[in-house]
Amino acid sequence: MSTFKTLGLGEALLQAIDAMGFVEPSEVQAKAIPILLEKDTDIVALAQTGTGKTAAFGFPLIEKIDPDSKKTQGLILSPTRELCLQIAQEIKNYSKFIPKLNSVAVYGGASIHDQARDIKRGAQIIVATPGRMQDMINRGLVDISQIGYCVLDEADEMLNMGFYEDITKILSHTPDEKSTWLFSATMPREVATIAKKFMSNPVEITVGSKNSSNKNVTHEYYVVSARDRYPALKRLADANPSIFSVIFCRTKRDTQSIAEKLIEDGYSAAALHGDLSQNQRDLVMKSFRNRQIQMLVATDVAARGIDVNDITHVINYQLPDENETYNHRSGRTGRAGKEGVSIVITTKSDVRKIKSLERTLQTTFEQKTVPTGKEICKIQLFNLAEKIETTEINDEIEEYLPEINSHLEHLSKEELIKKLVTVEFTRFHNYYKKSRDIQAIDANSKGGDYDDNGKSTRFFINIGEKDGYNWMNLKDFLKETLNLGKDSVSRVDVKEKFSFFNTDNDQKEAVLAAFENIIVDGRKVNIEISEGRGGGRGRGDRRGGGGRRNGGGGRGGFRGDRRNGGERKDNYKGNRDKGDRKDRNESGGNGRDRRKRKDRY
Ligand code: ADP
Ligand code: MG
Repeated sequence: MSTFKTLGLGEALLQAIDAMGFVEPSEVQAKAIPILLEKDTDIVALAQTGTGKTAAFGFPLIEKIDPDSKKTQGLILSPTRELCLQIAQEIKNYSKFIPKLNSVAVYGGASIHDQARDIKRGAQIIVATPGRMQDMINRGLVDISQIGYCVLDEADEMLNMGFYEDITKILSHTPDEKSTWLFSATMPREVATIAKKFMSNPVEITVGSKNSSNKNVTHEYYVVSARDRYPALKRLADANPSIFSVIFCRTKRDTQSIAEKLIEDGYSAAALHGDLSQNQRDLVMKSFRNRQIQMLVATDVAARGIDVNDITHVINYQLPDENETYNHRSGRTGRAGKEGVSIVITTKSDVRKIKSLERTLQTTFEQKTVPTGKEICKIQLFNLAEKIETTEINDEIEEYLPEINSHLEHLSKEELIKKLVTVEFTRFHNYYKKSRDIQAIDANSKGGDYDDNGKSTRFFINIGEKDGYNWMNLKDFLKETLNLGKDSVSRVDVKEKFSFFNTDNDQKEAVLAAFENIIVDGRKVNIEISEGRGGGRGRGDRRGGGGRRNGGGGRGGFRGDRRNGGERKDNYKGNRDKGDRKDRNESGGNGRDRRKRKDRY
């Protein structure tokens, strides 16, 4: 078993490592550190989140830096402000006993001049987000022409976020002789391209199987109807009184609205996403780290790489598109040898994604049922009992006791306990007494049919998840566009590339007219009546689901819809193709839609 000393690290660093309490190098550290210390080489290191990559490049980088020179010698690029700050802090911890070593964090949303001033004072290491770094270079505020080392941390995520061009430009300002160290959790094609283009004969190290999941994390899923998603989230929180969790949503908008709802409902929650100011985000992270916030609702990008200890649950309020993203999410828990739970709240139509995750991560997901109100009350009751038992008595209450005693002394011990517990218990009890229980949905059953006696019309519309919609924000969008009253739009069912919804029959013409000229994402919105009559969950819906399962190809979606199949198929396909082409043009080369990606930040 190697130790940090046998890896070849110097005294000052060993002292700092000791102070941080690291005993043994992690696998990626044991593999990367000796290679990087021994020679100046390029490296591609792949290891899942939470495996200690920061130190794997941070330790050797510090060893290589000459603290007596004030020149900038190392540049670390990382995808987000949070991560940038986190890495800068880590570097400070590592170099605690090397007083002359300075590192500066460079990221958007804070004063560029302050950052430039800090660099001018002498920063051997700069930790930066690509956007701000590029900005600083353009304004001549930083000189990286003599750096010896450039680290690309979380390279996959940086590329995911569309930083390819920024990275390319930044690298063009660095000397050819430098070493490039690329650290990433995954190796998508874009990362391979970077490695090939900007690195020479990189040493490659891989830790664990690329997609394997963390053994300390157990995975659970709950199948609920779409309208029960939020109530299910609340119940899961209530059933885990000491929950300390990150809740992942797909868009900034959902992130904000779920956090707001939780706060309104009395939970200690906050949102973290790219629309918040730097200050707000710092505050949120600080409160989360201090555990003043129990539930952090975040987008994938904003929470990427965030390292907060002892997160008990990761909750996937919605599943991400890509399995790899799920892996990053669940990696926020089960860190440093602790156990964690990754929970998925899903609807029946997404259960197939669970199966796919099981295959990719080579692990099993246990299906569970949302706790009943009664179970939650019981859990809360026992939690209270335990709290009473373990509470340390505060001496300050001494002076009030005589009076309180005289109030209560006629009560027996049994009565006293009953009353004490009731005080707390009633809140939950009253809430859950009134609420219906959330129906568990059999993941394998066929969708239930629905009948409103023909009072409403079901529509098909060619926008869906792919365009960043879910049932909540699509409903908002429809209500806005249609300018109809509250509850005018019902049964919104969002599929990957299209959706269904109902309105009253008498709104039919108005709905069709309202969408004459609506463009979403450069694509004309196509709306049609899905069923002749009524709101039944028709064949069209199911076909739609089937098409997606078959890989979501344009043809699969509506082939075989017998009623008005031909026409719709053509319209739909034509529009889709146009949309796709546009996406490709705008996406800066890597095939994804920038607008959507931004929405996820
Ligand atoms: P990654 O970048 O691979 O996701 P981090 O570098 O953020 O992982 O490290 C994850 C956590 O593990 C951090 O809290 C870090 O302090 C801790 N850690 C890293 N290396 C060690 C080690 N050798 N021993 C104990 N804890 C470590
Ligand atoms: Mg990291």
